[in-house]
Order: sequence, then structure tokens, then C-alpha cells
Amino acid sequence: MSSFVDVANEDGVAVVIIDNPPVNALSFHVRKPLHEALTALRDDPAAKAIVVACAGRTFVAGADITEFGKPVEQPELRAIIALLETIAKPTVAAIHGTALGGGLELALGCHFRVADRGAKLGLPEVKLGLLPGGGGTVRLPRLVGAAKALGMIVSGTPISGGEAKAAGLVDETFDGDLLANAVRFASEMADRGGPFVPVRDRNERLAETDLAAFDAQAADLAKKARGLEAPLACADAVRNAITLPFDEALAAERQLFAKLVSGDQSRAQRHLFFAEREAAKVPGKDLQKRRIERVGIVGAGTMGGGIAMAFANGGFPVTLLETSEEALQRGLAMIEKNYAVSVSRGSLPEAAKQQRLGLFKGSADYGDLADCDLIIEAVFEDMAVKKEVFGRLDAVAKPGAVLATNTSYLDVDAIAASISRPQDVLGMHFFSPANVMKLLEIVRAGKTAPEVLATVTDLARRIGKVAVVVGVCHGFVGNRMLSARGAENEALLLEGATPAQVDKAFSDFGWPMGPFQMGDLAGLDIGWRNRKARGQTAVIADTLCEEGRFGQKTGRGWYRYESGSREPVADPEVEALIRAKAAELGIAPRAIGAGEIIERTLYPLVNEGAKILEEGIAARASDIDVVWVNGYGFPVGKGGPMFWAGLEGAARIVERLEHWHHSTGRAIFEPAPVLRRLAETGSWGAVGG
Ligand code: NAD
Repeated sequence: MSSFVDVANEDGVAVVIIDNPPVNALSFHVRKPLHEALTALRDDPAAKAIVVACAGRTFVAGADITEFGKPVEQPELRAIIALLETIAKPTVAAIHGTALGGGLELALGCHFRVADRGAKLGLPEVKLGLLPGGGGTVRLPRLVGAAKALGMIVSGTPISGGEAKAAGLVDETFDGDLLANAVRFASEMADRGGPFVPVRDRNERLAETDLAAFDAQAADLAKKARGLEAPLACADAVRNAITLPFDEALAAERQLFAKLVSGDQSRAQRHLFFAEREAAKVPGKDLQKRRIERVGIVGAGTMGGGIAMAFANGGFPVTLLETSEEALQRGLAMIEKNYAVSVSRGSLPEAAKQQRLGLFKGSADYGDLADCDLIIEAVFEDMAVKKEVFGRLDAVAKPGAVLATNTSYLDVDAIAASISRPQDVLGMHFFSPANVMKLLEIVRAGKTAPEVLATVTDLARRIGKVAVVVGVCHGFVGNRMLSARGAENEALLLEGATPAQVDKAFSDFGWPMGPFQMGDLAGLDIGWRNRKARGQTAVIADTLCEEGRFGQKTGRGWYRYESGSREPVADPEVEALIRAKAAELGIAPRAIGAGEIIERTLYPLVNEGAKILEEGIAARASDIDVVWVNGYGFPVGKGGPMFWAGLEGAARIVERLEHWHHSTGRAIFEPAPVLRRLAETGSWGAVGG
């Protein structure tokens, strides 16, 4: 047998073991010997039943996604499943770890499925912009019913072995030696005798479907898909399973899959999948890490509290430091309230809340940070205050403790240089709410020791964050590009656009919301305060703030909000203010289309990304995409700004930037050399990825 597929006979039951580390992906070199083994066993009188199982830590956790988009080498998965369905003796998939995607589809080709109670089973293809193309949409509803199948396939979220048993997806769950139990189960089935009905021929659950209810469920999902094609195609495929004969539904699934796999959205989503993996590869990754057991947080405000929760959720004890007992109690009360909300929503058991709260220790004394292995500063965004805090940390932290700042914009090199141990300092830029948002920008300062960077990158994974290493500059990758994206916002209004038009261009593009809605949500006073501190002005936004229009929290901002509602309503007062300011500046209003809005906001976003690459602030173009999709809501179906630049056409972006540079004279439009190179060569080049 091949080294990837092994066959043994245990008391008349053939056991086929797939062994393709790390996740037993169904690569060509597995499919071929698997097909051969099953063909031989089908006709082998010495085997009364067949168990399909896997070596290592998991059942087949998916197709080999490096093969997507390439010509498929035969036998493909569907042929193996079709072969399984011609076998008259009982076939049993024995599932441990995860059975995902093609792995679960393989298991659906068997007559029976048995699983570890803790196993996870799911069809996550939608997350790559695809649908399960190996018959999953047609077979799963035959076992669990159409409604449950639709939920699983459109969400892509796996279910546990226990839930799978309750739903009818698996026949038996076991604790303990799965393989021995699977062999016994298969032997019993063989002794009991057939006929054994393949999943394709089981129509009872489908016959129960309430088609009107199904269509309502699908329509609801379509509304939430926000421009993504895959969830809609998934729903269509499951509907076909209900309304068409098996083989026709299977053929239709194939067609839908072929369309998705060759489309831009799936390419974009697969790009992001690989981009996240790449981002985790940092120099020094294999260095000996420092031990991080207790985490200290300075400042228990919005960010400090959220960061503390992120660590407690990851099981770390946390010491939270504030300037006064009162501020500390306020911070701890907010944390408790946040956990209580999760409990009331049913997403966190009460016992887990108590266990997590038990991990917090509050203090107003810096001496209490002496036993922390990592200390994160999250105090006011003020260099003098930050340096003061770092000076105190320098005095009390134990040797080798990692000292991090959560600053949004400030110079991490300057903070590091102000203390005696700059090698231990770096930025950990979390996003708000820090216990929810996945992105973490890890800011590598000039003197940060490689093992400190490796330690924090590893730690980020342990608390479920997607980490991207960035260099020091004003605003790092995300906020610096955000400034470029917003630089023309007021100019667009003065020249004739309304906030609602700009926001609509953004939501039509696929963003969750546009910049003015975003401003109202975050609070316009924050930017106003920052501008004042930096001696900057914004003609319209400053006036709104002077009038007490801070956004949702005051019921009025760029929009009006009716008594407590979060629904923005266009406000004629704001539009009148814009026109008055334009008149004062002698700007005659004109019609501004969505195309121009995109050119003047998203082209500078890409251009700033190109400058960031050029300066080495980001190591790869794909790192920038990871930042924007995970931290700022860039639509996943477009793959992040740098990937989207390729879809949009770099030559076109350069040409339009030149046009706007020429007509406005503003530096944000001056095309970066790396962007020109993309236009000429089709690649971000050596600095990009
Ligand atoms: P905040 O005002 O909500 O909280 C700051 C807290 O720090 C306050 O509770 C204050 O009492 C405390 N503090 C001030 N000086 C202190 C000191 N010397 N010792 C101990 N505690 C002290 O502010 P925030 O929004 O949580 O921001 C904190 C930092 O995080 C800033 O650097 C900010 O730029 C950054 N940040 C904020 C966001 C955001 O969306 N709010 C996102 C990323 C990063």
C-alpha cells in the first residue's frame, strides 16, 4: 500500500487508514491509493465491512486547498464517494478531531458515521467563497434535514459530535478508543445484514421539508450576505437537493461550484486565508520564547478593560492597574457588566463568567506589577503620560518582562528609548472592542529583541488574535491608511456630495458602513480633540462639534438619530451647513457620482498602502490586506485593499491618481513608485507578497 493509505484486517473488518499529516487533506497522492484500496475491498470476500479512519490528530480536515483553481487530477473526491456508494457491505467513517469540507463529504459517502463525542463536523467552504463541491449540499440535508443543513453550510460553522448525533449526522458517538469501537460497530452492522442504504437514496428527511419556511430562511440569509455570492449559491444548492432528483442536484452543485471557484470573490477569500497564514510567519519565529504566565495592564479604560478581558478569556491571570481606587472600580465594573451581557445573551455560562472574573486582580500600586511577565500600557494617548508610565514600569518590572504599549499613533521608538531596556519594548495595538476584534498590530520598534517579537506573536495566537507585524510610523499600517482614506471626505461634501451619498458608495462597495456613519458611531468629539491637540482643523466636522453634535451619543452628528435609535436619518441642517461653508469658500456644488467617491477615498487608501510597503512598515502586501479585513471591515469578497488593487487594475488607479494629483495638488494622490510597478509588472514585487 502507499505510505498515505494503509489497510489492515481486524476480525474480518477492513480498516483503511489515511495518513497525510498534518490534517489528512485529500490531496491527489491520498485520493489515488484510497480509490484503489476501496476498489479492491469492495470485491474482497475477506472483508465483511469497511472502516475509513485517519492517523494522527484528526480525520480528514478538508480538501487540499492548494489544488483549488487547478485542473483536478483523477480520481477526484466525487469519484471516491460514488465508489463508496456502490459498495454493498457496510462502510463506516470513524471521525476524530475534525471532519471538515471534503472530509465530511467523504464521510457522507459511507453508510454510517461514528465519532468521538468531542469531534467537530462541518462544511466551511463558504468561508473560502465556495460551496461544498463534493456532494455535501445534496447529502447533508438527507441526514439532518434541509433547514439544519442550510444553517451549517451557509455559516460554515462546525458542530460537535454530540450535536451531530442528535441531528442524525452521525449514528453513534464514543468516548475512548474510537477505532476499536468503530470496528465493533462495523462488525455488528455486517452481522445484522443489509441492505445498506447509501445516503443518496435516503429521502425521508427531505420529504418533510416545509419549502415556504426554507425559502424564508434562505431569503433571510441572502439579506445578511452583503454582496457575497457563496452564501446564496449554498442556499440554491440545498434548495436543489429538496426539489431535484439526486443526480440532477449533484450536477447543479458542481456547476455552482465551478462558477464560484473561478470567480474573483473566492480568489479573494482564498488569498486572505493564505495571507493570514503568511502574516504569522515572522523572523525569529523558532527562537526560544519568553514564558508569559501573568499579564499586567496599565489603564482600565475602554482599551485596558477590553485587553484584560481578551487575556482572561484566554485563561491568563491579569493584574489591572489604575491611578485611583475609584477609576479601578469603574473599570472592573465595566468588565463585569460586559460578561453579564454575554451571560444574558446565552453566549457565556454563569460559571465561566465567575471563573474569568476570578482571574482579575485590581491595584493602584505599581509594585503589584512586579510578578507580571508581560505588561501592556493602555493609558491616555499622550507621550508625556506614556513615558511617565514606562519609567515606573522600568523601575518595578522583573528582568525579561515584555513591556508593550497600546498606542494608536505615537512613536514606539521614543517610548522604548526613554527607559533602560528598549529591547523588551514593542507596540501591541489592539482594536476596539479589544475582547472582540481579532486584529492585533504588533509594532516592532528599532531595538525590539527578536525573541520578544516571537513571544508576542505566539501569544497573540493563544488569545485568538490575528497578528500582523508592522513597523513604527504615525498610525502604523491601519490608522495611517485610514487617514489617507478619509483625507478627501470633507472636500467631497464641499464640492457637492452629501454624507449619505458617500456612505452609500461605501456600503454598495461592501463596507459595513461608510465613514460618516462610522464617525457618528465612534463619536466625533474624539477626532475634534485630536485635531485641536495637533493644531489642525476640519471645516465642517469642527462646526458640528461646536454645536454639540458628537454623533450617536448625542442623537445628532453627521446624521440625526430618533430617540435612542441607531438608524441614521439625513439631516437638512447638516446639508445646509455644508452648502453654507462651500459658499464661504467659493466652491460651487456639482453632482458627484459613486465612481468619483471611490477614486478619491479608496485609491488613496491603496496608494498609502504602497508607500507603507516601500518604507518596509509592512513586510508583505498581503499583511496589509489582513489588517484591513480584520480591523476595518474591508469587504472579504474583495480580498483587502492591496488584492483589490489588482482586481480594479493598478494602471487605472495610477492614471486616476495622477488626474486627481494634477487637479488638486494634494500629496495623497501622488502615485507611489511601488504602485506604478504593480501597474507595469502585475506584481507588488520584492517588497510586497
Ligand atoms: P480611556 O480614556 O478610555 O482609558 C485610559 C485609562 O487610563 C483611564 O481609565 C485612565 O484613568 C487611565 N490612566 C491614565 N493615566 C494613567 C496612569 N498614569 N496610570 C494608570 N492608569 C492611567 O482611553 P482608551 O480609549 O482606552 O485608550 C487608551 C490607549 O489605547 C490610548 O493610547 C489610545 O490611543 C489607544 N487605543 C484606543 C483605541 C480606541 O478605539 N479607543 C483603539 C486602539 C488603541
